[in-house]
Amino acid sequence: MGLASGGIVIEHVVKRFGERAVVDDLTLHIQPGELFVLVGPSGCGKTTTLRLLAGLEPVSEGRIYFGERLVNDIRPRDRNVAMVFQDYAIFPHLTVFENIAYGLRARHAPRGLINERVTSAARLFRIEHLLGRKPRQLSGGERQRVALARAMVRDATLYLYDEPLANLDAQLRHQAREDILTLHRQKGQPAVYVTHDQAEAMALGDRIAVMRDGKLQQVGSGLDLYERPCNQFVAFFIGTPGINLFEVEVRPDERPEHGGRLRLVHPAFSLPVPAEFQTQVVPYLGQRLTLGIRPEHLQPPRRADFAVSEDSTIRGLVNVIEPTVSGCTVYLSTLEPTPRDFVATLKARLPGSYLGRDIPLAVNLRKIHLFDPADGRALLHGAAAAVPVPAAAVPVPAAVNGRSAGDETDRQGKATVQEPAKEQQTSEASTEREEQA
Ligand code: ATP
Repeated sequence: MGLASGGIVIEHVVKRFGERAVVDDLTLHIQPGELFVLVGPSGCGKTTTLRLLAGLEPVSEGRIYFGERLVNDIRPRDRNVAMVFQDYAIFPHLTVFENIAYGLRARHAPRGLINERVTSAARLFRIEHLLGRKPRQLSGGERQRVALARAMVRDATLYLYDEPLANLDAQLRHQAREDILTLHRQKGQPAVYVTHDQAEAMALGDRIAVMRDGKLQQVGSGLDLYERPCNQFVAFFIGTPGINLFEVEVRPDERPEHGGRLRLVHPAFSLPVPAEFQTQVVPYLGQRLTLGIRPEHLQPPRRADFAVSEDSTIRGLVNVIEPTVSGCTVYLSTLEPTPRDFVATLKARLPGSYLGRDIPLAVNLRKIHLFDPADGRALLHGAAAAVPVPAAAVPVPAAVNGRSAGDETDRQGKATVQEPAKEQQTSEASTEREEQA
């Protein structure tokens, strides 16, 4: 069923290329006026989802509604969607003015309206002085703003952004995020923004959907995903530095005064299970679980702003100290024959003299995460939102703690190095993309 008031509904949508479902039973309800972010590693189906929304690909199964209108069989140009692409798709032979005006001219808008809208969009994105130039005379950031201005002049039903900031440096990205938020607020229409970058997702999205292998993992605010991840994949994907993962065994506390309590036992440490989590952990007595600890939930015992008991600490060898604005990030390794790397973000600076020493760090036990290693499902905070994922889809603790290059690629997707947009690419922009522009 569609949304009466102008939202977007994706209902059990499947997209297959050959036998393979690259979008697999996706259901999302995007509210009117919402900036909805799709995030996930490279190849998880984000761009394909945008193309399905734009009508550039037909769905294999399922339904897409714009408001109450079923759009499965509606042509791209009749869906009235504005799209901003990663490579901007601006036309090299047209001036900035004509590029921005393109969608309006294609819809035979009156000249006065075109002039007014192009000028006002150029003013908003600070490119008024560039209106007479050709794209080859622009920087990457300026081209990106031309693409945004072109979306801005349209009165679209839905705005789609496909990694529009991937080619920009950090400073320009920051500015461009602001521009996108401005555009979004002015238009007041739903928008779907695709990125592989979880930090960008957290900065922009009203709500964020995490995808993996074509499947939806979890939908929520940035905070929801961070504090209540439904599974190990989401916990690992969201947050920088990433969550620390340790394989632990659930054992009874041997000490008589702690009768009935459970402990999470790792070769390098043993932590008590807080009373409020006992019920969820009891079924795993004698079995292994994956323990997740966010870096900020490890603090020096005397500086911790949470309850600290003598047996709630992990000792680690300090390998690297990176000062930050508010404290420091400390990279450590566990004290065991095969040390595991882990990371703590401390609220205070740690003097350089601590390098090479082993220090105790208190664990905020109420904030720990536990995952079932069989399917990666969260057992504590995010349990209600759980979407089962195959065991093979979950990063294993050893690799995570070692933070291998492969993991980083998975989290960051393809984005680390991007060539600047090439005019060649844009000149080859297909007619379907022209329709969206
Ligand atoms: P990225 O962040 O790298 O852009 P993505 O999450 O946007 O990735 P998609 O571009 O949606 O991923 O691709 C999802 C999967 O579908 C990939 O494995 C891709 O190779 C495959 N795919 C995309 N388009 C086609 C196509 N036209 N034919 C066959 N396979 C395709």
